[in-house]
Amino acid sequence: MDAREAMAGARRVTVLTGAGVSTESGIPDFRGPEGPRTSLGREFAVADYLTDAAVRRVVWRARLRHPMWTAEPNAAHFALVDLQRAGRVRALLTQNVDGLHQRAGSSPVVELHGSLAGTVCADCGAPGAMSAALDRVRAGEDDPACPVCGGVLCATTVAFGQELDPGVVRSARSAAVDCDLMLVAGTSLLVEPAAGLVGLAARAGAAVVICNREPTPYDGVATAVVRGPVGESLPELVAVPVVASGPV
Ligand code: NAD
Ligand code: ZN
Repeated sequence: MDAREAMAGARRVTVLTGAGVSTESGIPDFRGPEGPRTSLGREFAVADYLTDAAVRRVVWRARLRHPMWTAEPNAAHFALVDLQRAGRVRALLTQNVDGLHQRAGSSPVVELHGSLAGTVCADCGAPGAMSAALDRVRAGEDDPACPVCGGVLCATTVAFGQELDPGVVRSARSAAVDCDLMLVAGTSLLVEPAAGLVGLAARAGAAVVICNREPTPYDGVATAVVRGPVGESLPELVAVPVVASGPV
């Protein structure tokens, strides 16, 4: 079965996206030369961020320069909005932290790895807007502290090695086992537990369509694999109408 045939049979689609859906918006993916792993010059652990002001200063400068502040959603994001408006999206799960699905018009979006749009104080838990913290950096603070208690301000993203929010994981797993097709786009499927959602959906009987420029470890369980840019493949796939099957 090819990807178009799989889409034609799909009324309840759970979508799983990764950094590859935002590269055409100018946001580098994880493994690109400008990706977040390399933008800091080296790997850093959350513990370093919490205890070392020099690490925080580097991270705040990188956040200020992050391409997501000027990026616009692209054809891949808009295609998924169209699929949702057609009433065919069971859930949109994303590993991205850039908010571009929401900016395009998708709602709700399950953000598996959190969002770069918010801050939270590591000491008192006070929530805040990343834009407010970045305004302070622009105004000259190199390590803006929590306005409530003076503690360390973190982004509301999930760092490597940190646990995902259990409620988010629960809703992602239920969406994976309760769909007739999982549409995977722009992710290397190397990061767990997000990648495992694909195997979960396949075992529950869903068709799996993987749209990615490179091979992934889950290509073997996929019903169909589509290479090439998601800015082209997703608009083509969402345009495939549902074919009625059986008595209605
Ligand atoms: P990844 O970088 O590991 O994989 C991206 C995949 O998308 C790669 O296999 C690449 O070949 C493919 N790709 C890139 N551009 C594409 C395009 N236009 N069309 C088709 N395929 C394309 O990203 P991941 O799997 O999401 O995992 C990386 C982690 O880093 C995630 O946890 C994510 O939270 C984080 N991250 C987020 C962003 C963002 O929010 N935009 C950006 C970088 C990293
Ligand atoms: Zn605080």
